[in-house]
Amino acid sequence: MSSRKLVSALRQAGLRAGDIVLLHSSFLSLGDLACSPESAVDAFLQVLGKKGTLIVPIFGALGILTEVVKKHPEAVLSDVPLGNIAAIGFKAKEICADHWQCETVHGEGSPYLKIAELGGLVCLLGVDQDRNTSLHSAEALLRLPYLSDKTASASTPDGKTRSKTWKFFPGPHRDFIGLDRYFRQAGIMQATRVGNAVLRLIKAKEMLQLCQELGAKDPAFVLCDNPACADCVRQRAAIFQDRIEQQESFKLAASARLAGNYVPEIIDKLHGCGLKYLELDFLQGRSIINLSPEKLQAAVAEFSAAGINISALRLEFVPGDPEKILALLEAADIKRLIMPLPHDTEMLDALAENRIDSALSNSVEGSAGCKRRFVSLAAKFACSAVFNPVNFVRANEKPFLQSWRIGRFIKNIGQLDIVDATWNLCSTRLARGNAEIKELISILRCHHFSGFFTLGGGAVYPGDLKQAVQDFSDLLDNM
Ligand SMILES: [Zn+2]
Repeated sequence: MSSRKLVSALRQAGLRAGDIVLLHSSFLSLGDLACSPESAVDAFLQVLGKKGTLIVPIFGALGILTEVVKKHPEAVLSDVPLGNIAAIGFKAKEICADHWQCETVHGEGSPYLKIAELGGLVCLLGVDQDRNTSLHSAEALLRLPYLSDKTASASTPDGKTRSKTWKFFPGPHRDFIGLDRYFRQAGIMQATRVGNAVLRLIKAKEMLQLCQELGAKDPAFVLCDNPACADCVRQRAAIFQDRIEQQESFKLAASARLAGNYVPEIIDKLHGCGLKYLELDFLQGRSIINLSPEKLQAAVAEFSAAGINISALRLEFVPGDPEKILALLEAADIKRLIMPLPHDTEMLDALAENRIDSALSNSVEGSAGCKRRFVSLAAKFACSAVFNPVNFVRANEKPFLQSWRIGRFIKNIGQLDIVDATWNLCSTRLARGNAEIKELISILRCHHFSGFFTLGGGAVYPGDLKQAVQDFSDLLDNM
C-alpha cells in the first residue's frame, strides 16, 4: 500500500482534518508494504492536517510507527515514566502538559482524559482492545479496589532524578477484548479495512462514559473469568473484600475447616476469596484443642503475618478441662471462645477470670431451652450468642419463623453461622435447605449488625470456601 493509498484509506475510515487521534498500531498488519513506516506516519499527519494531533503511547514494547512518532522532530513527550505518550500537532503540548502532576497516570488530568474531553478518537490499527490504554482511564476514574499504588522515577531535563507514586495503577492482567462488542452495539466505534488491517475508530469520551457505566454495575467488568488466572482471581478477591468493608456493617469470617487443612492452604484460600477473618475450629482434620499451645501460637503468627485475623477459637463441645483451653487462648493471644451453651458455669467462670469473651452457640436444642439457659447465664456473665440455624433445623424448628423470636438470645447475638441444611439433616449450600438463611442474613443487615457472619461456622458446608463465598455473594446480590 502506497502512502497515497493509505491517505485515502484513512479518510475512508473516517479520519478528518483537525481530528485528535490516539493511535495504537501494528505496522505489519498493513500488509503490502510499498511505503515505509515514516511515510505511514506522514500519511496520518497529512490526513489530520495542521489543526490535527497524532498521539501514541510510548511505554512497553513499541511498535514501528510509535518509534517513528517518538523520534519525529516535532514530537512532544509527556514527562512521566509510566503510561507516557508522544504527540505531534496542534494540541500536542496541551495534551502532554502536566502529566507528572496527575494523581493517576491514566485518570483525571492525564493526556488520555484530555484526548477524550477534546473530542478525540482512539484508533486501533491492526490491534485489538487489549492495546487500548485509554481503558485504564475508566478503571482509574472508577477507583476500582484492585488497582494499586505504583512508584517510578524519571530524569528531569536538568539531569536530576525524581520519583513519584501514582495511585490507581492497573493490575497485571485484564480482559479488554470483551468490551469490543459493547462499543459496536453502542454505535461509538467504526471498523473498516485498511490494507490487511482492521482499523477501529472509537470516540474516546463516549467510550469512557460507557465503561464507567459498565464498571459501576460490575467492578470486575475488565477482569477475565478464567479460574486459572491467578491475577484476576486476586483482583476479584480485592473487589469482594472492598464491597464487604465499604457497603456492609457485618464482618465476614470463614471457618478453618471450610478453608482447608493446613495453614498455608488456608491462607491461600482466604486470600483467593478476599476474606480476612478466620474462625479456628479444626486444623489438620482435628479439633483445634489437640494442638499444643506452641503449635497454635506459631499457626496464629503465620495467619497474622498474612493479614488474617482470628475471629474466635471454636469448640463443638464444652471442654472438660478449662486449663487446657485457657493455655491455648493465652499462647495465641485469642480473646474470644465459641462453645455450646454450657450446663454449668465452670468454663464461664474461668473465661471471665481470664478476660476471654464467651460466645455461646445453640446446639441441638429448641429455642425455648436456649433462651432460658442463655438468659440465666447472661445475667451473671458478659456473653454473646452465636446463632446456628442448622442446629435449630436439627431441633425441628424453623430458624427464622420460630427460633429467631426468642428474645434475649437475639438481642445479644454476636454471630450468625452461614450454613444450611434440610429437615432430614443433609447439609446444603446456602438457601437450598430449611435453615431460612437468606431471611436471617437479611434481618440482621436491617439491624445494621456489626458482628460476625461465619461461612461454614458450626456445620459442614457441602463445597469449598470459594463455593461458599460465591453462594453468599449471590444471596447479597438478590437482596
Ligand atoms: Zn485474568
